[in-house]
This record gives sequence, C-alpha cells and structure tokens, in this order.
Amino acid sequence: MDEHTLRDFRELLESHMRGLLNSGYTPYSRFCDHGANDPMDEADMASHHCDQSLVNAIQHRTQQLVQEIRSAIQRIDDGEFGVCCLCSTSIGIGRLKARPTAMLCIHCQETLESVKRRFVGAKRRVAMA
Ligand SMILES: [Zn+2]
Repeated sequence: MDEHTLRDFRELLESHMRGLLNSGYTPYSRFCDHGANDPMDEADMASHHCDQSLVNAIQHRTQQLVQEIRSAIQRIDDGEFGVCCLCSTSIGIGRLKARPTAMLCIHCQETLESVKRRFVGAKRRVAMA
C-alpha cells in the first residue's frame, strides 16, 4: 500500500478516535447524575440502574472501538496495515475503506464467522438436550 493511502487511513482512524473520545466516552454521563442529597424512590433507583447499565455498555463498546483503532494505527506504524493476521494476504482496499480496523481478509473473516455460528449452534443443541 502506498504512503498516500496509508496517510489517508491514518487520518481517518485518528479522526474517528477523536470523535469517540469527545462524545460519550467520559464515565458517567448526564444519565447518572444524581446528587447525594437527591433521594431516590424504587422507580428512580430502577431507572438509575438501567441507565447506568446502558452507559456501561456504551463505554465498554467505545473502549473496544478505541482499542481497535489504536491497533490499526500501530499496524500502520509497523508496516502491517492491510495484511490479514491469519493468512498474510492483502485485505482488499474496499474492505478497508468500509472497515479500516479490519484485521482479517474477507475469506478468513467468513471462515471465522462460519466457525462461530457452528459453535453457537452446537452449544444451543447441547443446552436443549
Ligand atoms: Zn486471511
């Protein structure tokens, strides 16, 4: 991959990461801003718990995305960006444009997803037996 294309991907990844870090990433957003002197009834507590679970899930997913982006930037620095981590072939440019954090070529990704589906199906059959 040429330097210009790598630079474009780096800028795209860094821009995406800045966006994630500037919106919704900070712990305890406005959803959970209950003051210490603000008594909560059971409904408030249930709502607060639900909001907190949602915020935690969003933060967890955001942290995963930030980590994926950092990993992609590191692969650019290491000269490994755009190379499949399993089979070492080039990941298609179309796939990278759609998902710049991709670590697998489409063939390896499809194989992995097929294995996951079979594993989940087998797990369900065992649970139902
Ligand atoms: Zn591959």
